[in-house]
Amino acid sequence: MKAAVLRAFDRPLAVEEVAIQPPLDREVLVRIMATGVCASDLSTIRGKTLSALPLVPGHEAAGIVEQIGSGVSKVKPGDRVVLSWAPNCGHCFYCHEGHPTLCDVYGHAAAAGALWDGTSRLRDGGATLGHYSCVSSFAEFSVVPEAGCVAIPDDVPFAVAALVGCAVTTGFGAITNDAAVRVGDLVAVVGIGGVGVNALQAARLAGAQAIIAVDANPDKRSVALANGATHFVNARDADAVDQIKALTSGRGVDQAVESTGRPEAMTLAYLMTRPAGSVVIIGIAPVGTNLAIPAIGFPGSKKRLIGSIYGGGIPERDMQRILSLYRSGRLDLERQIGKRIGLAQVNDALRRLEQGVTARTIIEFGG
Ligand SMILES: [Zn+2]
Ligand SMILES: [Zn+2]
Repeated sequence: MKAAVLRAFDRPLAVEEVAIQPPLDREVLVRIMATGVCASDLSTIRGKTLSALPLVPGHEAAGIVEQIGSGVSKVKPGDRVVLSWAPNCGHCFYCHEGHPTLCDVYGHAAAAGALWDGTSRLRDGGATLGHYSCVSSFAEFSVVPEAGCVAIPDDVPFAVAALVGCAVTTGFGAITNDAAVRVGDLVAVVGIGGVGVNALQAARLAGAQAIIAVDANPDKRSVALANGATHFVNARDADAVDQIKALTSGRGVDQAVESTGRPEAMTLAYLMTRPAGSVVIIGIAPVGTNLAIPAIGFPGSKKRLIGSIYGGGIPERDMQRILSLYRSGRLDLERQIGKRIGLAQVNDALRRLEQGVTARTIIEFGG
């Protein structure tokens, strides 16, 4: 099959012929139909997360079940599925604690560039290629854990389903699970990218009274307003925090959700949040960076600083909610789709993402 391989950080992906082995116990071979190009792919490719190489990136995807391994009962060949990039085992400490996105089995597999049993199904001659987040969808086929397959209705286009595989679930869940926005709340969304636009839409659905979009790029204003923002503040303005306080009766927002991965944006999110409010950090910062907040005021602020991964809830449950909202016209996902390209143009898509294009590039496969 054709796959895009990351062999060295900060270099173009190489689209080449890669062998994929059949699915083993409780694994599923999926024909990838659509995959989004997400900022997390870009961070990995730029070496910010120091993943082991070589690997096949791509983690926001949907496709059709091609073949099932032994013991698989959740899906059958022909089923349309969105892939979860954090498939959880259901039996470990964190699964039992109600934090499936922190699953130990998945965590070990992802760190090793492997599937759950610690091995890879991707081969390049005699060498092994790493899986990326148990998905590796910049490829015509993918072998994934059965738990990573979430069946979708026939009327959901694959490009839309792919978005649900990462950006939508991450932004939607950050608002509904981790920020737990209530009707009438004052919300800020810092970083208007693929995740940020979904946080805006979710805040609108949750009944937020004010939804303040914050981004360092003033060109993001129109996309922010189109996705539910009531105000836009330029993060580069020296008085950005004062502007946000002026919009929130001088107090600051009830919840700020940050998705840029830039430590200074995380600090800004902290500063714009009112005492006893919640600061939800989604963005993946480069290895070796720290988040700086004023220590002196922290105890008295009673602020809650919350890390948020994959929406922080139960991704499969949230995906089903999201798809229901989409099918009833209450979540606008189609407008988030930008260019549709073939796998050969993947490096152009990564460049566009780096230049700040918010609309998601979707890689589609012939099918
Ligand atoms: Zn992603
Ligand atoms: Zn687990």
